[in-house]
Amino acid sequence: MWILVVEDERRMAELLRKGLEEEGHSVMVAYDGRVGLEAARMRAFDAIILDLMLPGLDGFEVLRRLRELGNTTPILVLTARDAVPDIVHGLDLGADDYLTKPFAFSELLARLRTIARRTSPARPTRLRAGDLVLDPASREVRRDGRRINLTPTEYRLLEFLMRRAGRVAPRDEIIEAVWGSEREVESNTLDAFIRLLRTKVDNGHEVKLIHTVRGFGYSIREPQSE
Ligand code: CA
Repeated sequence: MWILVVEDERRMAELLRKGLEEEGHSVMVAYDGRVGLEAARMRAFDAIILDLMLPGLDGFEVLRRLRELGNTTPILVLTARDAVPDIVHGLDLGADDYLTKPFAFSELLARLRTIARRTSPARPTRLRAGDLVLDPASREVRRDGRRINLTPTEYRLLEFLMRRAGRVAPRDEIIEAVWGSEREVESNTLDAFIRLLRTKVDNGHEVKLIHTVRGFGYSIREPQSE
């Protein structure tokens, strides 16, 4: 990762640089808030480690201005002041996480990994079962290349089953995922929707993909994976 460290205490800044570089990261250090803000505006970092007590502009101000500018780089706030109001204020201004000094370096690395992951969600990959393909990004479903139009509930049901393709999904888990646990859903509502899905997905195809597991639930799979 390409990391910006904004920290005025030289020893702490060097410690961070050295430790992060040893982990294979590239590091730029800014020793005051104004330089840090400029650096963050000029380059796209994967994460920013931001001290709060800084000369020039303090960390709160750097944070506030960056977020105001629409900068969404993950920011981990470092503070010696472990007072709750500071932490809350930092998070309010758009920090992703905080760490109070002194801290274990392993803790810092773990927090950095978490916030960097949070802002770069993995692109959903297409789900497949035989010649049935569901694209979670476009919500498009095709079988043998032909588009299948589904209602929102049918889509949620199919996506849930396809994420477990090859395995059996228990009835109660399907109902909870598709209709929500708080709502009372008639048990035969699920069966009714499965019938609708079958009509759209399996009708006209020799190979049936939607299978009933009596008394347990449903699954989507190709016959040869049985
Ligand atoms: Ca400081």
